[in-house]
Amino acid sequence: MSDKFDVIVIGAGPGGYVAAIRAAQLGLKTACVEKWVDDKGAAVLGGTCLNVGCIPSKALLESTHKFHDAKAHANVHGIQVGDVTMDVPQMVARKNQIVKNLTSGITGLFKANGVTLLQGMGKLLPGKQVEVTAADGSVSVHEAENVILASGSVPVEIPPAPLTEGLILDNAGALDIEETPKRLGVIGAGVIGLEMGSVWARLGTEVTVLEAMDDFLAAADKDVAKEAAKLFKKQNLDIRLGARVTGTEILDGKEVLVRYTDSEGDKEIVVDKLIVAVGRRPQTQGLLSADSGVKLDERGFIFVDEHCRTDAPGVYAIGDSVRGPMLAHKASEEGIMVADIIAGQHGHMNYDVIPNIIYTHPELAWVGKTEQQLKADGVKYKAGKFPFAATGRAMAANDTDGFVKVLACEETDRILGIHMVGGVASELIGQAVIAMEFCSSTEDLQMTIFAHPTVSEALHEAALAADGRAIHMANRKKR
Ligand code: FAD
Ligand code: NAD
Repeated sequence: MSDKFDVIVIGAGPGGYVAAIRAAQLGLKTACVEKWVDDKGAAVLGGTCLNVGCIPSKALLESTHKFHDAKAHANVHGIQVGDVTMDVPQMVARKNQIVKNLTSGITGLFKANGVTLLQGMGKLLPGKQVEVTAADGSVSVHEAENVILASGSVPVEIPPAPLTEGLILDNAGALDIEETPKRLGVIGAGVIGLEMGSVWARLGTEVTVLEAMDDFLAAADKDVAKEAAKLFKKQNLDIRLGARVTGTEILDGKEVLVRYTDSEGDKEIVVDKLIVAVGRRPQTQGLLSADSGVKLDERGFIFVDEHCRTDAPGVYAIGDSVRGPMLAHKASEEGIMVADIIAGQHGHMNYDVIPNIIYTHPELAWVGKTEQQLKADGVKYKAGKFPFAATGRAMAANDTDGFVKVLACEETDRILGIHMVGGVASELIGQAVIAMEFCSSTEDLQMTIFAHPTVSEALHEAALAADGRAIHMANRKKR
């Protein structure tokens, strides 16, 4: 038995590394265990998000957006550009450098905050002991007053499309394609499918997305999903709904034949690469000894209460391995809440106000309830909607697609949901989140001064529109 810690965190993704830093800030003696290693056997920090998720995907989205904008829209501004070309290996190398900078930054933050890094596979034993098996095979056991499980998630694999080196890829493989494919297939029109489909469609790839459900983006507000479907169609994303993949075949070692069934019968497509993006599942393999006292729910997530407490006293779990949306900011905030609770503080996590963003162009972003959820719950609500096309700043930016929609309680005026499609929706949604976190009414937003000219004015106008008071468009009803 080696050192005793106040807190041992298992997993150094955005849930685990943030929990470890916060715990150390609060004066707790903290260690973080991470199994991921690089080719030299050194621990890789940052988890899915920094290495094969949020950050690399956004780096590719930014590069390809700039490329596409220069190619397709520069002339609108009077800018004449020659033949715009993309050096894909350079784009991928830039993405890798950003990942390296950020992940090594966490090593620095651990040092600065006094977090002990334990490289190895962590396993929770009874009595809050953690066994760590390092990459070199050595085993050590550490004891803690509290343990935070932050083991994250892994991609779901489906039998009809087994991963095949260089051809059938999961989200990690999809981030390392080094040459623009002529034809790309994607299974799943969820977040990853739309983001990665957009990356390659912008570079001229013919992208076909096969989605099993009949509804497109069923979790989004219906207006957002409808607008997004229309815009993606214009961007040559061929999204086929109700398409159930039944099998795949590798042709001549270089193409993938994908068989699927939809309402019209059996069909097939041939693509150069196929990305499988059908969701993720919690990663708990090897994490828990049989007698650890931690229980899983029926879907394999670590079972926790609203304060992320597991069934084992002093053991918490956070992030993708527990219920709730699989989002980096949700994982991080749970990490902070748990560290605060361990240090004797109250801890705060508002599960009703977690923003969701899909980083296509335009971006899709929302927080709170959708219109269909309010209808299903029988809530009497009012809605205000304002198009970016009516704001001067969006016109100046040549980025006028989309709208902001505010939903509020008819009786109390409290804002219940804000939904948007727009060029900078990922930034604008932050204002909506702050408004909802502070329980704002539409009147609060109506009385707030928004700088002119900014795209944020669309949020102001949508709040005004909820009461028929929008200034820069004709209102449906006047009060
Ligand atoms: P993870 O990030 O998965 O980290 C878990 C860590 O624990 C890993 O490093 C793993 O190696 C380690 N680990 C697991 N078991 C053990 C063990 N037994 N011992 C030691 N170490 C262990 N979310 C967003 O909010 N915004 C985005 O833009 C976004 N984009 C994404 C794009 C893609 C392509 C993908 C795949 C995901 C994206 N996500 C995004 C989701 C986001 O990455 C996850 O929600 C987030 O990483 C979850 O954090 P986590 O700490 O719970 O788990
Ligand atoms: P997802 O749940 O967003 O989408 C999966 C899609 O695949 C769904 O539409 C589902 O109906 C469909 N599907 C499932 N099985 C299928 C099948 N056999 N054939 C065809 N379609 C099928 O999952 P994802 O896109 O894999 O992303 C995984 C997680 O990562 C998500 O939970 C998401 O929260 C997170 N993520 C977030 C971001 C972001 O915040 N911008 C970006 C990427 C990933």
